Amino acid sequence: MKFTFLGTGTSQGIPVIACQCPVCQSNDYRDKRLRTSALIEYNGVNIAIDAGPDFRQQMLNSKVKSLNAILLTHEHRDHIAGLDDVRAFNWIMQRPMDIWAEQRVQESIRKELSYVFADSKYPGIPEIVMHDFNGHPFEISNIKIIPIRGYHHKLPIYGFRIGDLTYITDANFIPEEEKVKIVGTKYLIVNALRRQRHMSHFSLQEALKFISDFSPRRGFITHVSHQMGLYVDISNELPDNVCFAYDGLSFEVDTNH
Ligand SMILES: [Zn+2]
Ligand SMILES: [Zn+2]
Ligand SMILES: [Zn+2]
Repeated sequence: MKFTFLGTGTSQGIPVIACQCPVCQSNDYRDKRLRTSALIEYNGVNIAIDAGPDFRQQMLNSKVKSLNAILLTHEHRDHIAGLDDVRAFNWIMQRPMDIWAEQRVQESIRKELSYVFADSKYPGIPEIVMHDFNGHPFEISNIKIIPIRGYHHKLPIYGFRIGDLTYITDANFIPEEEKVKIVGTKYLIVNALRRQRHMSHFSLQEALKFISDFSPRRGFITHVSHQMGLYVDISNELPDNVCFAYDGLSFEVDTNH
């Protein structure tokens, strides 16, 4: 299984519009961050996690030629605003896009993309079929996915465990009973907004503590704000087994499927 970071930035992306800070002005490609999203590729099946405002650019950057499903972590716009662009895959694959999300997130999409669900449909609109996993493990083309409940301040979100990989973004609290699902993971991806504490995201220190509690082979930091600092500075101070993720970074994951 191959995992790719399609985007590793927080909701504003980096550079932030009109910002003159050293991170936003950096020429290092690893300091340019589209909104947070990821791609799983396994046996010819492609699954995206979230589809924010940069979805189109991310599909182009990673040359994604087919997409079988999209998993949604939660309904914030930086994770769903690109859904209209599934039209390209509807056309090329001649089928609707399967979107997996909990009920509350589905409601939000029905409001956001009301034209998609209207009784009389305008020609050429996206075709979407929504599925709810009801908090239980589910499968997409024989890929087993275990949802992990987390909290983004008070908003419930879902992270996902796929084989030896666990992906959690937009959380700052995971209940003990959900942590059991992460035990033994070899690749642990966690959000960290910045060094300072934040109401709804892990800080860098909180994320590092969370990663070290599970002793994965490799940990990764994603969903980063420009307040975090330059890629070279942060990456130099992380423990050996933790990587400061950047857009386009990909790696192979052992699978037990
Ligand atoms: Zn977000
Ligand atoms: Zn900035
Ligand atoms: Zn969010």
